[in-house]
Amino acid sequence: MKTITVLGSTGSIGTNTLAVLRLHRERFTVFALAAHRNADKLFEQCVEFAPAYAVLGDAVAAQTLQQRLRAAGCATEVLSGAQALEQVAAAPQVDLVMAAIVGAAGLAASLAAARAGKRLLLANKESLVVAGDLLLQALQQGGGELIPIDSEHSAILQSLPADRSRWQADVRNIVLTASGGPFRQRPAQTLHAVTPQEACAHPNWSMGAKISVDSATMMNKALEVIEAHYLFGMRPEQIEVLIHPQSIVHSMVAYRDGSVLAQLGQPDMRTPIAYGLAYPQRIASGAPWLDLARVGRLDFEQPDAQRFPGLALAFDALRMPAGACAVLNAANEVAVDAFLQRRIRFTDIHRINADSLASAQCSACGSLEALVELDRQTRQQARQRVAQLSV
Ligand code: NDP
Repeated sequence: MKTITVLGSTGSIGTNTLAVLRLHRERFTVFALAAHRNADKLFEQCVEFAPAYAVLGDAVAAQTLQQRLRAAGCATEVLSGAQALEQVAAAPQVDLVMAAIVGAAGLAASLAAARAGKRLLLANKESLVVAGDLLLQALQQGGGELIPIDSEHSAILQSLPADRSRWQADVRNIVLTASGGPFRQRPAQTLHAVTPQEACAHPNWSMGAKISVDSATMMNKALEVIEAHYLFGMRPEQIEVLIHPQSIVHSMVAYRDGSVLAQLGQPDMRTPIAYGLAYPQRIASGAPWLDLARVGRLDFEQPDAQRFPGLALAFDALRMPAGACAVLNAANEVAVDAFLQRRIRFTDIHRINADSLASAQCSACGSLEALVELDRQTRQQARQRVAQLSV
């Protein structure tokens, strides 16, 4: 029996995680569930899974939730605030932590879980993008392990040799596949006019709003390139991105002898979640079977650099001092939020990201404090840029 904390339990990854846990009540106990504002959904989840703790962002909302849970006969204790996230991530009773908060807000709890030696199931790619070196150090110090939940990185882990010491010797490069999102074929000159609703309508995956917009700009793939660099120790030139519109081949590893190993499956996050939960064993995920005869064909093409200029920013950032990736992430979070609020155009997202990276001052970013300050400054500048570009 393993004990798990689910951070971001009310989101897309969080609810998919609970769907897998529901199938395996004899293997997993839920220690804590954490959300930001969605008290109603957290209430339902607490009644069903009876965790020892629940966490909400706001203290007043947490008090109200506590009263509702008591009235429903549920013994869950409700905590609030960012420190409570770290507390439930690092608690000694916990074996596994699903890090599924969206954005850099998830970093402190990911670090706390890593330092405490947990198995960190990392959906929150922003943690690695912002502070990859620090997170890897924390894992090493704490003796924990990092299992990626992103379907691409899960696919790569599944296609790499089990013996990690062979990774550099055997592997030529890795290939991250990308669906190309909703605008793969839309004329590039019309992209300035797309709406948040169009950007969030992903053809293959059902996801939260932020990652959906990131998929439409391909900034999601840019963040994944950085994530892959830290997870697998690959140099930028060893990381290739390939458009694969069907989202069936989730990524590939090309070996020195010419072999290419891939992991295939339906585009359903329950598969990589189940893999992370039971690693190295396999358990049922609830995802539908892959019927390749029905899929019929698998297509691949190079990404269009004009349509998706954001992708190149990841490779630029990886060649700059470490804080550059944090700058790119912070600018992108501000820009996507402004786009979702209809304050800027879709194409302004790239403008803000590229400008922020070009003016990044990130030579001395070895500590968490320095990264947090860099993140704060970048957000401030990006918000000014949003104000200038506001439509
Ligand atoms: P959602 O927007 O659906 O969910 C985000 C979750 O984080 C919610 O539970 C939300 O709570 C919580 N949250 C938001 N802000 C805070 C905060 N400041 N403090 C604490 N909790 C917070 O996102 P997704 O599930 O789509 O994505 C989560 C992460 O997983 C992202 O990093 C994303 O890139 C990654 N990912 C997602 C995939 C997907 O298929 N969705 C695939 C691969 C990776 P509330 O509901 O109360 O607002």
